[in-house]
Amino acid sequence: MHKQNFKIILSFLLILVSNFILAQKKFTVVLDAGHGGSDHGAYRNYADIGRVAEKDVTLAITLKVGAMLEKNKDFKVIYTRKIDEYPSLSDRTNLANRSKADLFVSIHCNSSQRPTAYGTETYVQGPNQNDTNLEVAKRENDVIYLDEKDKQIFGSYDPTSPESLIALKLQQSKYLESSLLLGGLVEGNFVNRDKRFSRGVFQKNLHVLRMNAMPSVLIETGFINHPEESHYLASEKGQDEISQSIYLAIIDYKKAIDRKSGGNSYATKKVEPEKLAEVPLKNDFRILLMSSPTKYNDGDPALKGLNYILTIKENGQYKYYYSVTNMASVKDINLKTAKDAGFRNAYAVGFMPNQKLSSGYYTLEVYTGDKLNANSFIIQTLKDVERNKENGVFYYTYGKVYTLEDAVKLQKEIEAKGIKNTVIQKVYK
Ligand SMILES: [Zn+2]
Repeated sequence: MHKQNFKIILSFLLILVSNFILAQKKFTVVLDAGHGGSDHGAYRNYADIGRVAEKDVTLAITLKVGAMLEKNKDFKVIYTRKIDEYPSLSDRTNLANRSKADLFVSIHCNSSQRPTAYGTETYVQGPNQNDTNLEVAKRENDVIYLDEKDKQIFGSYDPTSPESLIALKLQQSKYLESSLLLGGLVEGNFVNRDKRFSRGVFQKNLHVLRMNAMPSVLIETGFINHPEESHYLASEKGQDEISQSIYLAIIDYKKAIDRKSGGNSYATKKVEPEKLAEVPLKNDFRILLMSSPTKYNDGDPALKGLNYILTIKENGQYKYYYSVTNMASVKDINLKTAKDAGFRNAYAVGFMPNQKLSSGYYTLEVYTGDKLNANSFIIQTLKDVERNKENGVFYYTYGKVYTLEDAVKLQKEIEAKGIKNTVIQKVYK
């Protein structure tokens, strides 16, 4: 063989190999232009520029973000739509799940009854204590929610078992932290680069966020019904600025994730053999976030965006526990998640499963405050509610059970009847 030819073939092979390695490491982003086809989304007609329809604005911005990402060889871009058509919400999330995307970004425009409302906001998956949502998610998505590592840990379990539900919850809480990161970057860019007004990052229970097995955000890029903002949304300048801000946020997000993980969080990691053989612990472990005399409901900023919190009142103090597991590796992840969220002093507490209290019982604190009227929903719904009074404040409790598991069960039962934000209370005799 001619020496020159050999060199050419060798360099060609090298390019092939390096392209293969690069292809392995691509970060897949699903871009979802909201609405489309017969679904116009929000729209307004203006005398000077005619109709501004959400479906057109979202598509224009999405295509611009995609074009910028596609120039970067670290990224693979998948669009839920590139033309004026309407994929269903399930089509959109199924596509994202099937393609094992690393990130899902849904782009929308807002509208409000109040004509003065304006600004941007970004949504991440909302407080999801509601187990019916998890049940639906589990039924419809089944194992797709489990990544490779969790499948190794939980795969041998019956999918209807509590352990699988815990895995599912764990997955969702992992996505939440990353989704919040991207949401903050997007809104930060809108404010700092584009001088927009940001309404903030919020949690909301939306299909495209709930059903995705990856970090996901939904960006409301501005209000269609606000005349000034609508003109901005419809303009080339506005669409360029918005898409650049979203693009740069995605770039920074990937950098942050790479830094955290040493560069391959989104690639499937090899599972070490000892992980496969991990034996469940005797105790359940919950992460104690804090004790406080104040009661915080789901979604309260004091809980720093964490879900799956169990509150137990003991001696007048509310103790906030995050997640539950009987796997040592998962316990460590949960503790890290809690610390990363800002609970620096969090630690793991062991609970013996189904342990009966010997010198007391559990009851549910269903209400504190003013005296309840006999026609009130709580009194009407729960016949055997008990009334107590302490320091001039009334508090109402319901039920008497002897294990924490029974207390959680009782809490779910009355939640299904519409009585939310109850607290399990430990009473000593
Ligand atoms: Zn929309």
